[in-house]
Amino acid sequence: MPTLTTDIRAIKGIGEQRAKSLAKLHIATLRDLIAYFPRSYEDRTAVTPIARLQSGETACVEAMVAAAPTLSRVRRGLELVKLRAVDATGTLDITFFNQPYMKDQLKAGETYTFCGKVEGALLRRQMTNPVVEREGQHLLTGRIVPIYPLTAGVSQSILIRSMAQGLAACRDLLPDPLPEPVRQEHKLCHISYAYDQIHFPADQETLAIARRRLVFEELFLFAIGLKKLRTRRSAVAAAPCPVTDLTDFTAALPFALTDAQRRVIGEILADLSSGRPMNRLVQGDVGSGKTMVAAAAMVCAAKNGLQSALMAPTEILAEQHYRGLAPLLEGLNLRCALLTGSMKAAQRRALLTQLADGAVDIAIGTHALISPDVAYQNLGLVVTDEQHRFGVAQRSALSAKGTDPHLLVMSATPIPRTLSLIIYGDLDASVIDQLPPGRQAVDTFAVPGSYRQRIYAFLRKHIAAGRQAYIICPMVEENDALPDDRKAVKEYAAMLQEQVFPDLRIAFVHGRMKAKEKDAVMSAFAAGETDILVSTTVVEVGVDVPNAAVMVVENAERFGLSQLHQLRGRVGRGQHKSYCILISDNRGEETQARLKAMTRLRDGFRIAEEDLKLRGPGDFFGQRQHGLPAMKIADLSCDIALLQEAQSAAERLLQEDPELSSHPLTAQRVEELFAAQGASLN
Ligand code: ADP
Ligand code: MG
Repeated sequence: MPTLTTDIRAIKGIGEQRAKSLAKLHIATLRDLIAYFPRSYEDRTAVTPIARLQSGETACVEAMVAAAPTLSRVRRGLELVKLRAVDATGTLDITFFNQPYMKDQLKAGETYTFCGKVEGALLRRQMTNPVVEREGQHLLTGRIVPIYPLTAGVSQSILIRSMAQGLAACRDLLPDPLPEPVRQEHKLCHISYAYDQIHFPADQETLAIARRRLVFEELFLFAIGLKKLRTRRSAVAAAPCPVTDLTDFTAALPFALTDAQRRVIGEILADLSSGRPMNRLVQGDVGSGKTMVAAAAMVCAAKNGLQSALMAPTEILAEQHYRGLAPLLEGLNLRCALLTGSMKAAQRRALLTQLADGAVDIAIGTHALISPDVAYQNLGLVVTDEQHRFGVAQRSALSAKGTDPHLLVMSATPIPRTLSLIIYGDLDASVIDQLPPGRQAVDTFAVPGSYRQRIYAFLRKHIAAGRQAYIICPMVEENDALPDDRKAVKEYAAMLQEQVFPDLRIAFVHGRMKAKEKDAVMSAFAAGETDILVSTTVVEVGVDVPNAAVMVVENAERFGLSQLHQLRGRVGRGQHKSYCILISDNRGEETQARLKAMTRLRDGFRIAEEDLKLRGPGDFFGQRQHGLPAMKIADLSCDIALLQEAQSAAERLLQEDPELSSHPLTAQRVEELFAAQGASLN
């Protein structure tokens, strides 16, 4: 009798080779197999008469093989099986490439369902490599068919056939990780029905029912995991920091802290002195002064003899933090060091020694700071800046680094509460809800490309007055391999230099430049040696050049509101009146609504809510979903309502049974889910 843990080689059609391929998809057992969900579906329910086939469409026909298929070897490595199929309305030519077995498999006079893309002209319709199934069988055709993510050596048909066998063998063996009362209360279908229908839905409705249940399950388990993570962290001891006098720090600052900064620092100091590890998220709009809040925390740690690490998502930001903080901190007799991935080996070794023997109090850097070979003498506090790029796995890895160090997570991405629960559910939250005094609103305009000459004149005027400007170019993400964005930025900069501003100093920067080059460009800009910086969104987070007063965003429609807000936050950081100009030729209603919203809204949280409403969180985070947990089936862009439901169900269950001792299966699944994220709950 097969069980859930039976090896997949027990399935007919899966031998050593295929098992190896499936292992790449993390499928080893029957349970792994049936828990491998489709990525999408293809509705192959309808059968089209041949005469009605349209070239270019994907369709299913039921047709008889008119005569025995022929096999020809065109050349080595290219074998063609050809046949003609007929139904009552017409004929269809079918070709299979390199599937010689089709010659014997398809018999003249028998009827099959062929499913594929229709090509050719009206009287010579053809299909190449269609999916074939014997008449009356409805696994690959005649139904809504699952489409799975594949790997080399496993085809859709193989996977579908295996799935059908796997389900038949163990659909009824699946234990339900959802407690029965929860399932009942939230009107969720039975687990075996869910698995059946998610793979082989009878119709769209049953698919929706199955999906709802599985999404709920995933979000529920995830919510439980986050809560447990939080409880676990607060159950361990952490080095208490009783010394909290920061008067020398505040005295050394060139400005007075805002009330909001003060309050948040107070919350942090309370965490630090509690004897439990701090797990705090600090959210604050761009320019709200999060860096100083982090600095205060690190100073406090240092006064208590603990090392701190401040992590930034990019080298530019790490270096900027270092440049900004080192003089201040060193003035307080604290020893700072910068650690990035692009350091020379010798320099790095020396620094690692200093970290290990405690010669450095505060290490600032990229995630190089938590790479396995970096050891600390006494790491007591980890601060991550712009944390939405670090997920729950990284947070859990951090805790493992010191002996449960205090953790401070800073985010400028104001995340609506609904989402923040699933992203930051393991953290306490503070909000810096106030900007330093004297900040002026950045006047924002949305204009079509036909305004470009006027915009250039506007730029010239401000540069003549001594200001600097950013132009954000059509771009792609930093980690995108497309060479286009580099080209776009470079060419745009060259065009400006040659045709528009021959007398001005123009530079460009993009995420795929070497860290050294990037740094050189950014430093020159920060030093006022460049008038216009043409850039990709590498300047999006954190870069601080108070003299920059104009931000122009080309192809503004490509950005989410929150991203535009981040970009806009690069200007208006000094005492100068600042402007943000969003250029877009996209007249689409949705785009226009979004850009209009930018001209109207100032508050990052409001913008985030609006963004979420207009586009959904998938887009809300753009391609940069690093902070989002990897969900197997839930789609945070459409499952918000369910997320809330799952969240409160999770909370209630944990209230009743904090250790999940009466729900061992639930507990086990949560463990597995977090292990799959690379996070451990233990
Ligand atoms: P963000 O929250 O976006 O990280 P920063 O920490 O970079 O903001 O601060 C933005 C700018 O405001 C910096 O130049 C910083 O020195 C300055 N700043 C921070 N706090 C205050 C304050 N209380 N008063 C005046 N300026 C401040
Ligand atoms: Mg910042």
